[in-house]
Amino acid sequence: MTKISCASCAAFVCAEIRRDGQNAQTQKIHSVTFELIAKARELADAMGAGDVCVAVLCAREPAEAGSLFAWGADRVLCVEHPSLQNFNQEIAANILTRLIEREAPRVVLAPATTAGRTYLPAVAAKLRTGLTADCTGLDIDRESGLLLQTRPAIGGNVMATIKTPNHLPQMATVRPKTFRLPEPDASRTGAFEHAELPESAFESRIRVLEATREEASEADIQAADVVVSGGKGIRKAENFALLRELAELLDGSVGASRPTVEAKWIDYPHQVGLSGKVVAPKVYIAVGISGAVQHLAGMQTAQKIVAINKDPEAPIFRVADVALCGDFADVVPRLIARIRQCYNRTV
Ligand code: FAD
Repeated sequence: MTKISCASCAAFVCAEIRRDGQNAQTQKIHSVTFELIAKARELADAMGAGDVCVAVLCAREPAEAGSLFAWGADRVLCVEHPSLQNFNQEIAANILTRLIEREAPRVVLAPATTAGRTYLPAVAAKLRTGLTADCTGLDIDRESGLLLQTRPAIGGNVMATIKTPNHLPQMATVRPKTFRLPEPDASRTGAFEHAELPESAFESRIRVLEATREEASEADIQAADVVVSGGKGIRKAENFALLRELAELLDGSVGASRPTVEAKWIDYPHQVGLSGKVVAPKVYIAVGISGAVQHLAGMQTAQKIVAINKDPEAPIFRVADVALCGDFADVVPRLIARIRQCYNRTV
């Protein structure tokens, strides 16, 4: 058994480990882990004391495991075992429960991915504590020191802030790209521990028969540096062609608001927002999108937001870095022509 250091753990992060797209035997740490560690660091600092611990469950230690300190981790607890080659919720829940019991953190964060959404409720039940899923904001209450877990509620119509005053740890899941990544600090260091657990921790009734990887599609809007999204204001499905042209010019992808998906102008994988995907591109161009809170929940961490809307009072302009007020049918072709002109000049 590994001896766990006696420094108290303020925040505990469950790392997201994925199979490498190129080599199925290699595992990689998904970037949502860095986002959660950076947020955990902020929370631990606000609590005034305690470490940020990160649990890495893997078949073979991922190359990036040593870089987790740069994002704010103090300790990395690496559990390596062949049974962790493919995700198994039963094993993940068992191991995380044991580690959390040992570390006794005040806060536990996990990604709201398919894996995190599957194992964390089981961990919360085993630990007899609460869990707030899909948080869009996390903070520490200065008076009580409790975790403030904010998420949309009542069909997305209100933002609810939830506290867990009577049980520890306070547990939350967060969707990828919800929090903006700070610059990593390469000078930060910490303790790396190989946590050894009894074989019984790796036993499971679940047998993985096969794991296949989903191919990246045109709608992989979460990986794109530029996302050009269309809303109801573009009037008809055919007008997405104009947005596609702009997106292609910028090596970007096409996103959409929910009403356009509901109208079948575009498929669901393109939907940005509360009930779609969260994106955090370098540039987000919102065309004919009003800026409802449910849409903003999916794109407000973009580095630069450009909004094109004919209504000067449209709420999207409140979050936009660049506001282009006008008819999209006039503005977008002019933007395309201007970008082409600049591109031709420099190439
Ligand atoms: P509208 O609100 O109709 O806005 C159209 C905009 O286009 C207006 O601002 C208008 O001024 C502008 N416009 C009109 N004509 C032109 C023109 N010629 N040129 C330029 N601008 C023009 N929404 C999402 O997007 N994603 C979600 O994931 C999502 N999840 C939801 C979950 C729940 C539980 C609920 C209740 C709602 C959700 N919604 C979601 C819906 C959300 O509340 C809004 O209804 C939706 O975002 C509005 O879409 P829109 O901006 O395309 O349309």
